[in-house]
Amino acid sequence: MTVAIEEIRSLLVYYQALGFERLPITIITKEEVQATSNTQRSERESSRITGRAVPDKAAELDALREMIGDCQRCKLAKHRTNLVFGSGNPDARLMFIGEAPGREEDLQGMPFVGDAGMLLTRLISKMGMKREDVYIANIIKCRPPLNRDPEEDEVASCRGFIEKQIEIIRPQVIMTLGRIAVQVLMNSPKLKITSARGHFLSFNGIPVMPTFHPAYLLRNPRDKVLTWSDAQKVLTRLEPSHA
Ligand code: URA
Repeated sequence: MTVAIEEIRSLLVYYQALGFERLPITIITKEEVQATSNTQRSERESSRITGRAVPDKAAELDALREMIGDCQRCKLAKHRTNLVFGSGNPDARLMFIGEAPGREEDLQGMPFVGDAGMLLTRLISKMGMKREDVYIANIIKCRPPLNRDPEEDEVASCRGFIEKQIEIIRPQVIMTLGRIAVQVLMNSPKLKITSARGHFLSFNGIPVMPTFHPAYLLRNPRDKVLTWSDAQKVLTRLEPSHA
């Protein structure tokens, strides 16, 4: 009994985190419960075959976005034009995580749409995919002034959102872009990108491949070959797409 109460409590906390303030109560018969779970099973099966997102993931991401709202949780709020939540396939096999929006991203409200974004798009297509196949997000959702490194309180306010995005999308592999993304995600402020890149880490059981940030690669094109070698390792971990 106590276990059941605890499970219900944590389910309610989860719904609250998604932004629900009340739950519609309807009496559901045993047959309806069975029919619902059959539908869910067949949706998942068809999603596995067609590669299309299970509708819940898109809805959960929408609910998370709604919960973040017109965020004023840290001082970056007063500098931003747009909050950059993330974009792409909610059922992506591969997720890219950057640091924080830059100028262009802040203006457009979309991640990686400036020069660094163009290079990322090229990497994605070299990997045999399109931007719409993957999911792209940042650790920090608002642009730090003059693109400075995010500060501790800003990371603390924002990190729960990327964690929730990962939990919803549950990609097969994550590729982090640059030093800050891997340090924050792995909670390892001493990690060096030069030694971390190229080796799989794990975040809640999901393989994480750290690689260089595309903005760094624009300044140091000779290192593109290293990121390509990291991307090839990622490709070996992806199950074939059914799209
Ligand atoms: N750099 C990042 O880390 N993220 C973006 O969205 C753009 C540039």
